[in-house]
Amino acid sequence: MAWILLFIIIIFSKTMLYLRIILVSIALVNFAYAKPVIKTHTDDTGEQRKIMVAVDHVLAANRDFVKRHRKGYFLPFIKGQTPKATVLGCADSRVHTHAIDPHPDGDLFLVRNIGNQLVPVRGSIEYGVRHLHTPLLLVLGHTMCGAVRAAMQDYTEMSPAIKTELDNLHVPHGDPDNASLVLDSVEHNINHQIDEAISYFSDELNQKKLIVIGAVYDFRNDYHQGYGRLIITNVNGSTDAGKINQYLGFSGKKSLHDVFTSDAYKDRR
Ligand SMILES: [Zn+2]
Repeated sequence: MAWILLFIIIIFSKTMLYLRIILVSIALVNFAYAKPVIKTHTDDTGEQRKIMVAVDHVLAANRDFVKRHRKGYFLPFIKGQTPKATVLGCADSRVHTHAIDPHPDGDLFLVRNIGNQLVPVRGSIEYGVRHLHTPLLLVLGHTMCGAVRAAMQDYTEMSPAIKTELDNLHVPHGDPDNASLVLDSVEHNINHQIDEAISYFSDELNQKKLIVIGAVYDFRNDYHQGYGRLIITNVNGSTDAGKINQYLGFSGKKSLHDVFTSDAYKDRR
């Protein structure tokens, strides 16, 4: 208090001019270089903890990745990319590339959104097919897809952005808790997206530069073929099992690795 009183006396006194100038200068410099007050989150709410856990998870995973991968691992990527397939998949967190390719780096040109819709990402898919020349376009749906289940109901109350995307699914309305109906709708949606792809990439298909495969990643074993099985449901618009086998050159349900290594697939490269 005494210091403030002294400061005021000095500032307003008619004498001590130099001292006044020095004090005002110090005050201005302090003001100009003052550190901004950073608001710290001292209140440790559940939401903030969740944010920090998510950020830590990503950063720690990347630190571990950097430790485990040396320069040699990245050299092929620095030269460019020659992916084996363009994949249009659902953004669902339960669906990931290790289910179809143990080493997806450089293999899969991956485009994802809710319900694996082609229309909003047509440019990205076109880049994969026409610029990176992937001979396979895989439309990858999955069992109990939340987007498909939402599109099976009245979704008019959804936000405009989500509603616009669900409009691209074209699935029949039905009970979203009926696993069998949902499976039919998942396949229906894949077929619809493939129809869109076939019409857009008709030249590549006619020239046999491209094969379009639709598949369901079955993490619930709804098809009774094993948990995590990739079930191929559509090839170039055909859903007939005989034709699918004819296209792929094998019979039965196979993995994507089998597709990549089949003679029929290699002939199309
Ligand atoms: Zn989904």
